[in-house]
Amino acid sequence: MLCYYPFLYVIGVATLITYENDLKNGVFYPEALLYIYKKASFFAYYFLHSPLNVWQLACPKQERNSHPLWGRGLIFLFPMTLLGPFTELLTLQNLPMRGALQDEQIEIIPDAGVLYNADGIIMAVGKFLEMKKDALIQGYAIETITESLVLLPGLIDCHTHTCYAGNRAQDFAMRMAGKAYLAIAKAGGGIMHTVRATREASLETLKALTRTRLLRHKKEGITTCEIKSGYGLSFEAELKMLQVIADLQQEDTGIDLIPTCLAAHICPPEFENQKAYITHLITMLLPEVKKRNLSHRIDIFVEETAFDAENARYYLEEAQKMGFALTLHADQFHAFGSKLAVEMNAQSADHLENSTEEAIEYLAQSNTVAVALPGASIGVGDKFTPARKLLDAGAILAIATDLNPGSAPMGNLLLQASILAMYEKLSTAEVFAAITFRAAYALGLQDRGTIEVGKRADFVTFKTTDYKNILYQAATTEHIHGTWLKGVKTF
Ligand SMILES: [Zn+2]
Repeated sequence: MLCYYPFLYVIGVATLITYENDLKNGVFYPEALLYIYKKASFFAYYFLHSPLNVWQLACPKQERNSHPLWGRGLIFLFPMTLLGPFTELLTLQNLPMRGALQDEQIEIIPDAGVLYNADGIIMAVGKFLEMKKDALIQGYAIETITESLVLLPGLIDCHTHTCYAGNRAQDFAMRMAGKAYLAIAKAGGGIMHTVRATREASLETLKALTRTRLLRHKKEGITTCEIKSGYGLSFEAELKMLQVIADLQQEDTGIDLIPTCLAAHICPPEFENQKAYITHLITMLLPEVKKRNLSHRIDIFVEETAFDAENARYYLEEAQKMGFALTLHADQFHAFGSKLAVEMNAQSADHLENSTEEAIEYLAQSNTVAVALPGASIGVGDKFTPARKLLDAGAILAIATDLNPGSAPMGNLLLQASILAMYEKLSTAEVFAAITFRAAYALGLQDRGTIEVGKRADFVTFKTTDYKNILYQAATTEHIHGTWLKGVKTF
């Protein structure tokens, strides 16, 4: 009888044979063997549990369960955890990457469980009681959930400026009282205020400030957070910001961090013009960022007070040649930037509050993700990104917080998404997609954003029995029960 465990056994033996010569010579690589064995086990499990699996068809469940000892032997090397039961589990798998979505398209598994391995990779998703029978026989760890919870993929905030020092409450008060964002910037306020404070802050101070903000992100259900530099605007200060993000990534913050170099935020006063600063970035900063492996993405603010299209294109082309992925702040106050993003095949074009019909069509025809930042619309009192039009045209829409001290101090991804949804008339499915797998796509990540076999075990759980309560109660974080990062509960 063809069966799961003999198959794994054969892989294990084959692995040993591969190393036979080394073993004979007294050379032993336990780490390498374990690594190969774990990977082989993963692929075996994946293929054997897929719907097209002929092995499983040839091997009834009863038969598979009759080899508990082999199963336990495997677990000794490769432990797995079954988590559940969840009142509802929303996999978000099989949803299209682009365009409009209906709530009926969401796959909801009631009384669900999710099984993941020691590397934090999902191995199975299904009905908890059925999975529990297997788990007991095979000796898997079982973490039993005793309250009513809804499970979603961990939330992904694909655009933030979480690393900064200082405070821009004065700007906020001025904007509330009617002064325009661009006028405040031209008067010497705005970004340069934060740049001065961030330059003055030590690496440790900046790290402590950012760490505190990450703690808040975590409580809001975020498991992956992009963080930009861009308040240094000098060789040393930009590297300091990126180093802070790199150091925090090594810490146990409970959030996976994606660093983006936004040295091209605005042109600092030390440089006579945009071209001179861009040239400095290309020749000095970016090679160093690359050398120190601090970021694989670059961002540029294309706007009247920042960089014009011509300099932006030159910068993007040169950065692309160096191997950086691209993203742009585009169409925030004036309609330029998004077309350039599409032409440069950027991962995302973010803001888009003032995108024209033509720009929407451009984005819809591209793989560049349109990222709406409702917190920035609220923070400057501007209109929202035309999310409905973008989706109806067939674009890939993500939603992010743009958390920053100036235009978007609000944070709270769920609340922002909920507000945008109400004004732009988005379905719950469209919102969930925009803050999970579509946001992952904006960051070039394919290993997260849905709950399915092979993806990371990054989860967020809500204290409710009905997923519709998640956006309904978005104004509070009280209903968020916890998050898991690669299978490890972070709070
Ligand atoms: Zn931004």
